[in-house]
Amino acid sequence: MSLGIYVHVPFCRSKCPYCDFYSVVNRDEDIKEKFTERLIREIREGSELPWFFRTKPDTLYFGGGTPALLSTSQLERITGTVKDIFGGEELKEVTIEVNPGSTDLQKLKELRSIGFNRLSVGVQSFDDEILRRLGRLHKSQDSFRVMEDAGKAGFDNVSIDLMFGIDGQSFETWETSLHTAIDLRPEHLSLYSLEFQEGTVFTRLLREGRMKETDPEEDRRMYETAHDELERAGYEHYEISNFAEPGCRSMHNMKYWSLQEYLGLGPGAHSYLRREDNGLGQRFYNRPDLKAYLDGTDIRVMSEPNDISDDASEFMITALRLTEGVSKEEFRDLFGVGVWDFFGDVARLQFQSFVQTGHALEDEDRIALTLQGFNVSNRILSIFV
Ligand code: SF4
Repeated sequence: MSLGIYVHVPFCRSKCPYCDFYSVVNRDEDIKEKFTERLIREIREGSELPWFFRTKPDTLYFGGGTPALLSTSQLERITGTVKDIFGGEELKEVTIEVNPGSTDLQKLKELRSIGFNRLSVGVQSFDDEILRRLGRLHKSQDSFRVMEDAGKAGFDNVSIDLMFGIDGQSFETWETSLHTAIDLRPEHLSLYSLEFQEGTVFTRLLREGRMKETDPEEDRRMYETAHDELERAGYEHYEISNFAEPGCRSMHNMKYWSLQEYLGLGPGAHSYLRREDNGLGQRFYNRPDLKAYLDGTDIRVMSEPNDISDDASEFMITALRLTEGVSKEEFRDLFGVGVWDFFGDVARLQFQSFVQTGHALEDEDRIALTLQGFNVSNRILSIFV
């Protein structure tokens, strides 16, 4: 299995009121240059960790934040260092997230020319009033332009993000955004229901009674309609929130859902690597602290090493997000016993109760959640914690 490398670039033009990803609003070019140099140092220093050279990366993902706010030459120096240190000959998928309001054709051509071959575009909605409510800087027109420019720049693998369940968003508005997205024919779509995360402006407004949560039934209807319409349009619903044309699943994100190794670089980035002595997982992350990162402080925080129960739980919890669920044979190969031998009869009976209500499926080969099960996934997945 190959490694996935994630690079977190924590700069944004403004902070969206619903977002809890680690990012800072920064227009200072010096800071971006310092960040680039520090990141290059982190990549080089990473080679001192014992795990790093066991597997070569086949995916590289720049997220954030708004990574395309770095200049093309900064991005090229970072990708060049990754290739130098880790070997770039097996890189198949190189993704960068872009925002419609801060990208133009020239930038997209430059990104393509330095090796990016997949774009993830933060469209969120094709309705200008919804974009305004979300505090986004772009308009729907910018999204149309980016999608057209992506094709002109030579990108043939584009994903778009859309959000639903937003206060003030009617079912019809959601459907229109969905139909517009389908007409644009991206290779991949990620759909997210608005969540009120701790520490965000939206959560404060909710507590102050100045915002409403969407009725869960309406939220469910939006999700299930998206599933039906996207499948009718030829997209595969392959993970709770993700849809792809055949052959266009996100290789990088699949690593998160199948307990494969990934290395996160930059402040706020998380990693999962397997230890050499026993093959079990080791999680660690960089504290979300740009200042300390730039100062050269070691901000890596190691978690307790996983034991086999941690790895088995994490495998179930992530793999059950996939529509194809968990292969019983794969579980046996990884952990040496069958799923229910590992988790026991109580877990099996609890899971069976979800099978009886149509929220889950089990046959000889696999166990999985149904579309209805995805709506209550937290309850089902807690069986395996
Ligand atoms: S642009 Fe993206 S990362 Fe930045 S604040 Fe908005 S949602 Fe968060």
